[in-house]
This record gives sequence, C-alpha cells and structure tokens, in this order.
Amino acid sequence: MTSEPASRLPAVDRVLRHADTAPLIERHGRLPATEAVRAALADLRAAKAVADEAGVAALAGRRLAAEMAPSQRRVFNLTGTVLHTNLGRAVLAREALEASDAVLGAPSNLEYVVEKGARGERDDHVRGWLHKLTGAEDAVIVNNNAAAVVLVLNTLALGKEVPVSRGELIEIGGAFRMPDIMARAGCTLVEIGTTNRTHLRDYEGAIGEKTAMLMKVHPSNYAVVGFTTAVPENEIAALARSKGLPFVNDLGSGQLVDLERWGLPHEPTVREAIEQGADLVTFSGDKLLGGPQCGIVVGKSELVRKLAKNPLKRALRLDKGRLAALEATLRLYADPDRLPEKLPTLRLLTRATADIEALAKRLLPIVTNALANHATVSVEPCRSQIGSGSLPVDRLASVALSLTPIAPPGGKISGGAVDKLAAAFRALPVPVIGHVQDGALKFDLRCLEDEAGFAAQLSVLK
Ligand SMILES: *Cc1c(COP(=O)(O)O)cnc(C)c1O
Repeated sequence: MTSEPASRLPAVDRVLRHADTAPLIERHGRLPATEAVRAALADLRAAKAVADEAGVAALAGRRLAAEMAPSQRRVFNLTGTVLHTNLGRAVLAREALEASDAVLGAPSNLEYVVEKGARGERDDHVRGWLHKLTGAEDAVIVNNNAAAVVLVLNTLALGKEVPVSRGELIEIGGAFRMPDIMARAGCTLVEIGTTNRTHLRDYEGAIGEKTAMLMKVHPSNYAVVGFTTAVPENEIAALARSKGLPFVNDLGSGQLVDLERWGLPHEPTVREAIEQGADLVTFSGDKLLGGPQCGIVVGKSELVRKLAKNPLKRALRLDKGRLAALEATLRLYADPDRLPEKLPTLRLLTRATADIEALAKRLLPIVTNALANHATVSVEPCRSQIGSGSLPVDRLASVALSLTPIAPPGGKISGGAVDKLAAAFRALPVPVIGHVQDGALKFDLRCLEDEAGFAAQLSVLK
C-alpha cells in the first residue's frame, strides 16, 4: 500500500455524510459546511496529517465557528475613556435602541407625511426637538460632524476664503484635519493670528472680497494654556454681522444641557453658542449628546435651507435607524431630571466615585482568585477621561483595579508579562480592554455596569 498521506484522508462526500457533520450543515448551511470540510482537508494534506471523518468534521466545525462569529462584537471598555472613539463612542439609551429597532424591521414614514399622504423630509422628525433644545431656528442632520463641517463649508464657501485662527487648526484623529477638510470642501483656508494668541484685528485684517464666512473651531482634544488670547464668540459674531458674513461655530461635542448641574466641568452648550451669535453651529450626535453617530447643524433657517439643497446633503444624509435613535435620545432631554438615569453617557460620567469604589472592592477577591499565581491585584484611585475631544483637561475621579504580574518562583518578571496579561483579558469571550501603565494592567471600573457578566467569564483565565 502507498503511504501517500492524502490517501489516508477521507473523501469530502464521506465527511459530509458523517453524523458529526450533520449539526454543522443544520447550523450553517450545506455550502459553508462543504467549504469548511474542503478547507479542513486541504489543511490536513498540507500538514501531511492523518484524520478520520470525525476528526475532519471537528476541524471543519472549528473553522466554521471562527468564520461565522460576528466581527464586530461587544467589549468591556475599562480604558478609563468614557467616549472612546475606537470602542464606538456613546452607548445608546434603551429608548434609542427600541426606536431604531422599530423602524429598521418594518417600513416607516421616514420621508412621508402620513396625515397628508404626501412626501416629507427625513430631518422633520428631529427639527422640532432641536429647536426646542437649542433655541436655533432650524436644523439639518448628516452622517457625522465631519460631514456637517464639509457640508457647511461646501455650501457657503465654495471657491472662497475662510479665515480661521491658527490656535484652532485642529486634527481630531482619524485624518480629520481642518486644513485638509477645507481644501476638500473647495475653499481656501486663511490662517490668522498665532497658535496661542488671536485678536479681533486679525479677523478684521483677513476679511476681503473673497471671504465667505467667519469660523470658530472648538479646540476639542487639546487645550492651549498659559499666555493665550482667543476672541470671544460674540465679538466675532458682531464683526461677521457688520460685514454681512455668516459666523459658523464648529462646537465638536455640543452638549444640550449644562453639565455643571451634575458637578461636571462646564462644556459649552449649543444654546450658548447660538446665544453668542453663531449663525450655524455644528456638533456630533455620539459624543456628549449620547446618541447615535451623526452630525447636526443648527442655526438660521435661511442658511440651513441652503445646506439642505446642496446635493452633498443627499450623499451625507442619515439613515432611518440612526434618525429614530437620535429622535428618541433628544426626547430624553425633555426631562433633564431623569437624564443621568436614562442616558448611559451621562450615567457613566456622573457615576459616584463611592459607587465605583464599592464595585472595585467586590471584584477584588474575584479577580485575585481568578489570577491565582499570575498577578497581584489592588484597588487604586485613578482619573477617567470623557474622551472624543470633550473637556480635554478635566479628569473625573474614579477607581481602578491594578494588576501586576507576579514573578515565577526563583525568576523575575519578564518585560512582556504585563502585555501577556492584557492579551489574556482581551481573549475572553467578551474582550476586556484596559490600559498598561507603569508595568501594571489598569482597569478603570467607571464604565463597568455588567458586573455579573464580567465576573462570570474570569474562570476562563485559569
Ligand atoms: C469630533 C469633532 C469633529 C468630528 O466629528 P465626528 O462626529 O467625529 O465626525 C469635528 N470638529 C470638532 C471640533 C470635533 O470635536
């Protein structure tokens, strides 16, 4: 007999007829199961390995499980950054999830006025709420705030100049750089002032024939501190008005209520920006507002109408699911008293340190036990960040679990031990994401709400 390994592997048909393959076909379908069996056989052949039908089926089952697992899945955000862009920013309120569910699974009146039996506009579903919550005359909604800025610039400043203070020429991460955005939107950036000081006369000096508008950009993710001057918004607004130019304020995070009410640092609200004289204000839906990813422009009706008519609006428009989630989120703002209870972003930001500390103390013995001889665990104070460019300087007092690898008997801690520990937590069924600092793995517990789920999966670590 030949000892050629391929001949010692069963044929595809035989594996497909085997009892162990039946549940794979039942669960994933005949085509994916057949492909997985073929791929498993190819792997075995390449490795010159031997297997029977059951062995091939088991291998195919593992391949299918990995292949069919969702790519985007839930994680525990214990990074200490509440609005973490890479981890999906704001967690939606239950009301928002239900609202988007309701319209995603059935036809809806997205662009249809039911009472009249006539065509409607999708942004009508949130216009009234935004007027009520910000005082602005009108609103237009797009895919995100970057899109909102592009739409405003392209509509009002195509082929023209826009003066912006050098202190505000920001990069927001993920390739959103104000100078590049300006160029793509078809307008010319005129840099004025210096990084730390810009005066009203700098704006005055920059205004000429080709000036389309004046613009202020909220320096979201950094702060210029020390010897600084920025021109108050109302003064830029007055100058713009005297020259017949619109004044646009890119607020970034755009909060709808004053956070000081809950002891959080002040972040300018959209209403304040309007009151300070902005003709248009742009902001994100999934930062401090706590809603779905979207970009919102509010302001003067006449300007908002122009934005809505730009063909780019059609390319940047929001889908029905997120629009419903936004509407439901805005509705929660009608009752600010219960906002910290209903809106996860605010609930996490206002979580009492004592509450986080109590959670840390409950988890301490559980995590210690799960890590047996691998790491020591302690409870320590830390500071959370709001994230996504909101309030870059202010930090919120919080509590962390700090995990330090233990040296093996007679050995010493290797440099990679803490990274290995971090990788083990990321490999859990629901990955746990922390951060490494000073040779320890830190888990800021501010955003941990599913305590039972977190504790239950730790047994896998042993
Ligand atoms: C975050 C931010 C943006 C971009 O908003 P996205 O919703 O992420 O597109 C633009 N401008 C400012 C000032 C920001 O803070």
